[in-house]
Amino acid sequence: MPTKKTAETKETAPLTPEVNEAAPKAAEKTAAEKKPAAKKPAAKKAAPKKDKAAEKVAEAPVQPAEQPVEAPAAPAAPAMPEPRRSVAFIGSECYPFVKTGGLGDVMYALPKALIAQNCDVKVILPRYKCIPQKYQDKMVFRGDFSMDLTADGRRYYVGIMEYVWDGVVYDFIDNEEFFSWGNPYTNLVDDIPKFCYFAKAALAALNYMNWVPDIIHCHDWQAALVPVFQQAMFQGTPVASAKSVLTIHNLRFQGIYNTQTIKYWTNLPDALFDYAVLKQNWVDANMLKAGLSYASMITTVSHTYAAEIQTPFYGEGLDAHLRYHSGKLRGIVNGIDCQQWDTMTDPLLPVNYGITDVVEKKKADKLALQAALGLEQNENKFVIGLISRLTNQKGLDLINAIMPALMDGNTQVVVLGTGDKEYEDAFRYYENAYKGSVCSNIMYDEGRAHQIYAAADALLVPSLFEPCGLTQLIAMRCGTVPIVRETGGLKDTVQPYNEFTNEGNGFTFDRYEAGLLLDACNRAKTVYFTARDRWDQMVVRDMAKDVSWENSAKQYRDLYLELKP
Ligand code: ADP
Repeated sequence: MPTKKTAETKETAPLTPEVNEAAPKAAEKTAAEKKPAAKKPAAKKAAPKKDKAAEKVAEAPVQPAEQPVEAPAAPAAPAMPEPRRSVAFIGSECYPFVKTGGLGDVMYALPKALIAQNCDVKVILPRYKCIPQKYQDKMVFRGDFSMDLTADGRRYYVGIMEYVWDGVVYDFIDNEEFFSWGNPYTNLVDDIPKFCYFAKAALAALNYMNWVPDIIHCHDWQAALVPVFQQAMFQGTPVASAKSVLTIHNLRFQGIYNTQTIKYWTNLPDALFDYAVLKQNWVDANMLKAGLSYASMITTVSHTYAAEIQTPFYGEGLDAHLRYHSGKLRGIVNGIDCQQWDTMTDPLLPVNYGITDVVEKKKADKLALQAALGLEQNENKFVIGLISRLTNQKGLDLINAIMPALMDGNTQVVVLGTGDKEYEDAFRYYENAYKGSVCSNIMYDEGRAHQIYAAADALLVPSLFEPCGLTQLIAMRCGTVPIVRETGGLKDTVQPYNEFTNEGNGFTFDRYEAGLLLDACNRAKTVYFTARDRWDQMVVRDMAKDVSWENSAKQYRDLYLELKP
């Protein structure tokens, strides 16, 4: 984003009025505001009283207030990296409240890992109706206020429901009109207004709570307007001082919609609807593109994907824009939550195992899964798992092309996923065509996923593109050998098996061609059936590989430290 544009924006942006409207004024609710979903009277009294947000700027400390120093304590705990950073995560999903894919995992695990790196983390999420009741019951009303949103000045209710868990503070933005649908994502007609509202409400909520982070870390297009609103409409308020990081988890989804609609739902100044910021083409505006322009730093979830998205093939139409902003673009590979994925303690597994007994005990999980799914029970079958959204991103066309060749009588395939009808139907067909050898679970089921990761010998991830990919990391953690295409995070995390040195973690292929996928599967089968000791050594190597968040969290922390408020 050229600086010139920022200056223009600031000149035309409606600054002060918005600021004050973002501050809580319960008495100002209008008919257009929506009622909160939760009962709140008791808690409401406890909600923090706050004057105009702008007036707080001078008083509000940007850093959390330091504790009064008492007698010097013994240095018992390991030294924490200094200084401390406060971070607000803003995104559209987070395990275990709501998860549709990898973003949900990251929003859950990264804040926890950052706390161990001396960061203070608050996670801001929409309060969807589909969040399980057990979590809804634990949320505490934190306050509410009304906020201007649309071009015609409609005001909307913003409620804040808080839940503190495992050291992380989760603040849910509550508004029945936007979040009472069954799923987090429905269709763009509803999702565009929903996430315009959410991005602005999240910033206003930070001001309301008087919690001004050093860093606002936004995720994907749903939160991409946060840096834009921050600079165009929140100047002079406490949150204006925060630096912003925008992480691309999947460039395919950008929040593109017609300009008029986005103008209406954001009320952003006309100057921002040009090619450097929001404009996509003559009719459409692009929310992610605008966020990339305004964010202080852009990250994506692997080094390879960071380079790939600057090329036309992977750039999804934004490659030139990303090349322009490449100076602030960085790749940091995801990790996984090793507590959540621990085969030694996982209560969802029929048989628990660790690195010392994986070879023996994994077979018991395989037999249990075969029995549960109606597959032929035989511990010597080569069981291939596929746990995935069923979309063309995931390389399913290649699998379709090789299915007859893959099913050689010694191989079983277990699929778990939902998605496009054509793929769901194809896997249903294979289940029927290869009875007893293929099982297609067309569903979303956490428990079944755990059982497949533990039971399978190999996991297939032949993606067309893969920003990071978590399934190959989970597979390795469970001692299941990944077979992957060398793209994005798959390339960064799976070291190809080298038969001469007996090194590597999985089997890989480069070009997006069915023959190469089949070849990779056949190489895996050759080692499995003819050199089992080498296979077993690879299983142990995979389990020993560090796929935790610690390393990534350190890199994020260093990035936050670079961004001086
Ligand atoms: P993406 O975010 O592109 O969907 P990732 O590999 O980054 O892919 O993350 C997928 C996550 O969703 C993993 O945790 C995987 O186990 C989980 N997952 C995908 N499909 C299912 C399913 N049908 N049932 C249970 N978990 C699933």
